Amino acid sequence: MSSTINILFLAAEAEPFVKIGGLADVAGSLPHALRDLSHEATNDVTLDVRLVLPLHRTIRAEPDTLRLVAEFSVYRRGGNIPVQVFEMLSGGMPVYLINGEPISSSPSVYSTDPALDREKYTFFSLAALELTRRLVWQPDIIHANDWHTALTLYALRSRHIDPVLACPRTVITIHNLPYTGGDSSDVLCVYGLMPLNDDSLPKWAQTQPLPLGLWSADAIIPVSPTYTREILTPEFGCGLDPYLKTRTNSMTGILNGLDVNFWNPETDQTLTARFTPEQLHARAANKNALQKKLELKEDAHIPLLVMIGRIDQQKGLDITFEALRQLADRSWQFVLLGSGDPVLEIAARNLQEDFPDRARAIIRYDAALGSLLYGGSDMFLMPSRYEPCGLAQMIAMRYGCVPVVRATGGLKDTVQEGNTGFLFQKATAGSMVEALTRAITVYDNSEAWEQLQRNGMKEDFSWPRSARQYFIIYRSLMSGL
Ligand code: ADP
Repeated sequence: MSSTINILFLAAEAEPFVKIGGLADVAGSLPHALRDLSHEATNDVTLDVRLVLPLHRTIRAEPDTLRLVAEFSVYRRGGNIPVQVFEMLSGGMPVYLINGEPISSSPSVYSTDPALDREKYTFFSLAALELTRRLVWQPDIIHANDWHTALTLYALRSRHIDPVLACPRTVITIHNLPYTGGDSSDVLCVYGLMPLNDDSLPKWAQTQPLPLGLWSADAIIPVSPTYTREILTPEFGCGLDPYLKTRTNSMTGILNGLDVNFWNPETDQTLTARFTPEQLHARAANKNALQKKLELKEDAHIPLLVMIGRIDQQKGLDITFEALRQLADRSWQFVLLGSGDPVLEIAARNLQEDFPDRARAIIRYDAALGSLLYGGSDMFLMPSRYEPCGLAQMIAMRYGCVPVVRATGGLKDTVQEGNTGFLFQKATAGSMVEALTRAITVYDNSEAWEQLQRNGMKEDFSWPRSARQYFIIYRSLMSGL
């Protein structure tokens, strides 16, 4: 007999509505991948997944496709805050967009002022929970992502008994553990959330959204098996490792997948030339287009190295800059596309000034240029200090761009040394130089290089495998009721 599991999926960003980083890729594709599992012949369970997002000012949604479905208010000391919830359909899936003053007054998805974000996302989390009480449709599972939505789970758990909600089970995916949301005692207090009275969490963590969400969740999903092991250690655990060690029975590492229809070098219209593993030669036109566009020497034989992503300490840009300086007497071209930390942005511009004919720092978000870089450059550099999963290296492999990455988190789980890419152990320029030297040596042998490219392109990073693992978790939570 078939049955349905209702899942409310909460996130701060999701493609195609609003994107800052990898969370948007995941929240934009995992809910659809889960819904698609319902069509598998062997599956007798329907997954009715619905997405909830803040109605950010920058959201891409046609106003006339939005339907007002709920109006209520969220308690805040000194004056309740009115909430409007709009619904629209995305590929058949209901998406709820929550609006209210803390969201509409905020110009960007993530603010440089952490206090503003704490207020906005606490409001969002509580409004999302209240929404579940207003809908005829009731979630069996509430699935939060990162600190921004963690307080939904805490509010639910600290309420103990809710007369309307039939006790949904809860899941939280950790995309980035160090981003805990910061001390939120003031916000928790004004929004009427009880302080935690449980010393299993360290004192400092008892007022921070992500730890409270972890404490509340029935299941904790870090986004790769290696990262799941790493966060149990002091080096990666951000002070939460002793607590996480007590929760290992509830933890399962699940790699993110890729939306392989969107990230497809065979159909990607932003590429100058489309290609398959069997027609790799066509890729050369993309490299040439890049070199021309970026005013680099048009030479197919110079290895073109790229980084695309948030400019952040995590991503190890300083390690790349130093490694490239150490490799100054080798032949390379380098392009960075990204934005973020102003100090690292300056370091990137300095590299361009020091190597004006071979380094480019393009400080902006540019999806089309990103695709052309994946589809035209030779090596993708990710010397991350930590990397919970990482999508960019998977996109790179799919586009025949060979990853050179630090052996950490999801990078270690997705890149195979000498088969699909190159790995190095330490977050140091020296360690990266060794891997780059190995990579450049293979690059000089075009046959061996093309084999690496083809191996990467043939890897299966599609969502169904990961979605099935999430499904197993949901089902086990439901059977535990
Ligand atoms: P993270 O989630 O830590 O930001 P990921 O590697 O998981 O890193 O995902 C980053 C995603 O964002 C990739 O799809 C990458 O192509 C995209 N991206 C990040 N910065 C930019 C940029 N400046 N221009 C274009 N795409 C970008």
